[in-house]
Amino acid sequence: MRHFGLLGDKLSHSFSKDFFNKKFSEENISALYSNYELNDLTNFKDIFKEKIISGLNVTIPFKSKVIKYLDSLDSISQKINAVNTILPLYNGNKLSHLKGYNTDVFGFHQMIKPYLKPYHERALIFGTGGASAAVAYVLKRYNIDVNFVSRFASPSDENIFIWSDVNNYMLNHHLLLVNTTPIGMFPNTSQFIDIPYHTINKHHLVVDLIYNPSETYFLKKAKENNAQTLNGYSMLVNQALKAWDIWNT
Ligand code: NAP
Repeated sequence: MRHFGLLGDKLSHSFSKDFFNKKFSEENISALYSNYELNDLTNFKDIFKEKIISGLNVTIPFKSKVIKYLDSLDSISQKINAVNTILPLYNGNKLSHLKGYNTDVFGFHQMIKPYLKPYHERALIFGTGGASAAVAYVLKRYNIDVNFVSRFASPSDENIFIWSDVNNYMLNHHLLLVNTTPIGMFPNTSQFIDIPYHTINKHHLVVDLIYNPSETYFLKKAKENNAQTLNGYSMLVNQALKAWDIWNT
């Protein structure tokens, strides 16, 4: 039996374990996907001593922190400084190399590409973490100008704004809005992004990377104002399938 797993700190509501174990069962694959819940990464390589692990996913808060424990990175994870997939290589039974990949980029690209229109010239990305970097990487490849909204911005950060800067003018000039913060994510579903929603209109494409709940307040208000809306479910499935490809090449 092959072993796979997810590295993170709070994994009780994670999608990956159920997704992969269902896939293994439906496709008669002899494999098991387990959660590896750790407070920090200091002894993370100990998990490879117990058994041969053929692949790992990485989630909050380790996507950047794990990099210093890896032997190599693919070009995308190197550029965005975030890893969500690890391919372990072995010499016999002994771990010999850990390579990091970022499949959030692939997942977001697969999700967004059918919805992009020529008038999506500028995007406003809420949050500046690992997922934000993956989203920005994809959008820049479409020559879309990207600005960010953060809790922290210094005057030298020309394309990073603070939340109180988000006004009607800014929303009118950014027809693609992407939430990459955890605001509104289960169990904190009563939290919401506080922006002037009445400015949003049918030309806006509004994306929330959150998939639980399937419709956050952000998406609900955007939809009420006739925007096209997308939650993060398709990105999640696509990033997982890409990780599966990497572990099986
Ligand atoms: P992360 O690295 O921790 O980044 C989240 C960012 O959100 C932070 O950098 C921060 O930006 C902002 N933020 C955090 N807490 C906030 C708060 N209370 N109020 C306002 N802003 C806050 O996490 P991540 O890996 O990028 O993931 C972010 C979200 O995307 C999560 O909800 C995750 O589930 C989702 N995600 C979904 C998929 C998918 O496949 N659908 C894939 C990856 C991630 P500032 O410090 O600049 O304010």
